[in-house]
Amino acid sequence: MVENKQTVIVTGSSRGIGKAIAYAFAQEGHNIVLNGRKPISEEQVQELSQFDGEVMTCIGDISDPDFAQQLIKDTKKQFGSIDVLVNNAGITRDNLLLRMSEEEFDQTLDINLKGTFYTTKAASRYMLKQKSGSIINLASVVGQIGNAGQANYAASKAGIIGFTKSVARELAPRGITVNAIAPGFVESDMTDVLNDKVKETIMTQIPLSRLGQPEEVAEAAVFLSKQKYITGQVLNIDGGMVMNG
Ligand code: NAD
Repeated sequence: MVENKQTVIVTGSSRGIGKAIAYAFAQEGHNIVLNGRKPISEEQVQELSQFDGEVMTCIGDISDPDFAQQLIKDTKKQFGSIDVLVNNAGITRDNLLLRMSEEEFDQTLDINLKGTFYTTKAASRYMLKQKSGSIINLASVVGQIGNAGQANYAASKAGIIGFTKSVARELAPRGITVNAIAPGFVESDMTDVLNDKVKETIMTQIPLSRLGQPEEVAEAAVFLSKQKYITGQVLNIDGGMVMNG
């Protein structure tokens, strides 16, 4: 039995990095809430159910404020607490600035940044009462150094970094930590769509000369959730792409 069983919500956990994060927390014996826009496979639920915690699925769009609230409410109702919130759901709608439509810009900001705002606001209400909790937001190196063709995505991820630091200051007095993870390029469906030429160029920017694995990001999320004296930080998992001072 796990000594300190927690309830962990991972948005966008049907695949990729979110799926790996959910698995890593399940392995620790915690209760897991899976979320995605499309139904979660029975296979994934079974896989996580082999550990000590329970698994709940909550399907819906986190850029819908009503759904985001419902996700948090249903979790609280089912498990009685919300200990870790991982804001992982995210999209890219890449285009060069002059070709970028307002819709592409808005969609990216709505899901990546406003989705994070909705779930964080709803969850922090409970965490403040509990006087404990950990919020982990998925940013990106692109939010730190920019990337041609990703002005919308970079803006959303830079926004997440500012949001993380501000909320960290607000929630710190109640012992709640808020941190961001900034992955570089990690193997997932999101990066699979990049063509070989783009991948080759990316590789030249990574000192460790390889893409990251979702499990490596997941390890960092579990680590941050356990740290009570780290808040308002951005942890880069990027093979050395961005070396912060
Ligand atoms: P992915 O496209 O493989 O998975 C994204 C997940 O988010 C899916 O489960 C999808 O269903 C879910 N999702 C998307 N929109 C949603 C919405 N509106 N509501 C609920 N769920 C939604 O992406 P990934 O590569 O696993 O990326 C996960 C996170 O990590 C994202 O925030 C992404 O921006 C960030 N990130 C990824 C990389 C990378 O190289 N893969 C690099 C930096 C940051």
